[in-house]
Amino acid sequence: MNAPENLLNDLPAFDNSFAALPEAFYTRLAPQPLPDPYLVGYSPEVAALLGLPADWPNSPQFAEIFAGNQLLPGSAPLAAVYSGHQFGVWAGQLGDGRAHLLGGLRNDSGHWEIQLKGAGRTPYSRGADGRAVLRSSIREFLCSEAMAALGVPTTRALCVVGADLPVRRESIETAAVVTRVAPGFVRFGSFEHWASRDKHDEVRQLADYVIDTFRPQCRTAAHPYDALLRDVAARTGEMVAHWMAVGFMHGVMNTDNMSILGLTLDYGPFGFMEAFDAGHICNHSDTYGRYTYRNQPHVAQWNLYCLADAFLPLLKRPEISRAAIDETYGEAFETHFERLLRGKLGLRTALPDDEAFIGETFGFLQQHRPDFTLFFRTLSCLPAAVDRENRAKTDAPLRDLFVDRAACDGWLDNWRARLAQTPWPDAERQTAMLAANPKYVLRNWLAEQAIRQAQAGDFSEVERLRRCLSQPYAEQPEFAAYAALPPDWARGLEVSCSS
Ligand code: AMP
Ligand code: MG
Repeated sequence: MNAPENLLNDLPAFDNSFAALPEAFYTRLAPQPLPDPYLVGYSPEVAALLGLPADWPNSPQFAEIFAGNQLLPGSAPLAAVYSGHQFGVWAGQLGDGRAHLLGGLRNDSGHWEIQLKGAGRTPYSRGADGRAVLRSSIREFLCSEAMAALGVPTTRALCVVGADLPVRRESIETAAVVTRVAPGFVRFGSFEHWASRDKHDEVRQLADYVIDTFRPQCRTAAHPYDALLRDVAARTGEMVAHWMAVGFMHGVMNTDNMSILGLTLDYGPFGFMEAFDAGHICNHSDTYGRYTYRNQPHVAQWNLYCLADAFLPLLKRPEISRAAIDETYGEAFETHFERLLRGKLGLRTALPDDEAFIGETFGFLQQHRPDFTLFFRTLSCLPAAVDRENRAKTDAPLRDLFVDRAACDGWLDNWRARLAQTPWPDAERQTAMLAANPKYVLRNWLAEQAIRQAQAGDFSEVERLRRCLSQPYAEQPEFAAYAALPPDWARGLEVSCSS
């Protein structure tokens, strides 16, 4: 297919709704040009969401546009201000230190805003360079798309462009820009920013903006701001339940990285659980383990309390704003978590003892540390009934994940006893379990392999991995090697906040 002559001529209508807020909320500024950009990775699914012509990425102009060198018509680029609690401590003013919100469009698939991450310095860069390195940009691109395919609420990523521009981190790396796409990028910290300065009008303006743009149903509620806070709490509970079910660890759950829309936001030193350890710290910079797998549900609640405190000017009484969290978050988290775990375990309908069985299962995983993803995927294929004589053979795929085979047998007995309480034909149950237990997740070693090749100028592995992770629940025999445990070279991989 021939690329069109000027891509900008056939773009859908575009505007920037956030720019309708008063100027105090942001600084308008153009992205900083990135010399000689090239396309590193591209998501056809996100292009389709935006209604972009399918042949766009074939044009060299595509990389120019998404490096920020050519502006989409109708865009009003800006960097937004926010504040936040980082690692539990008030950090004061932050903001889009390296993100430019270009604007958005509305179409049949929703309202989509487009943001360039890594396109240069802004007034909120706090002395940093406004750039992002290729390594972290590939990780964000791949993980956003992998999470969406897993069914986890998340921001999306249209593409990564790279350039040879050197960027200094622990060593010299090269620059890249990720184009993020989401209905909106407002953070808990966007509210905390104004509340911390006693700017009550601004807190209200921001809440009105969020309600009118994203949550019109809250406007007709008896108490719109209370309804908004409850909506955020419920969605955050659902999001974290999904994280726990796929073994995702965000790594930096600071309040400035929490989306007011309940989307997974700001992919940095995230990880997917491999050998199960609820206390796993995926972020090498998280010295005290604040953001371990097991802490995520509590941290999300703590962050919601920060948001509730920021809503005080709107709700007047602390007991009201905190109640909005207490009455909504825990319930949403638990309901979704139990629903997702029942799906993973093949439990057809709910029984009162399921919570206890799920807890027992996590205790068992903690004690024996099988690979989290392989455990559930392998379990999906086992039969509900097994004869004593044949069990070693029938259950071999799962038993092989354990050193202590007898412990595995013991847990399987309990699982089968539970299955028998809500019978479900094996074929149907197995199909349902395979649709609930991914075969492919973005293991660190997979990301690292794609990054190393990309750093050497070969982007084909980024595309192969993206394609594999776009169907995480499908067997895809051609990608079977991507479902494997980390190879020896990957044992010591560490990911930190450096990006
Ligand atoms: P993060 O830990 O990635 O969520 O970043 C925290 C804050 O630092 C955000 O406000 C970022 O915009 C900002 N930031 C991180 N890295 C850079 C960078 N290289 N240049 C400018 N700002 C940055
Ligand atoms: Mg951030």
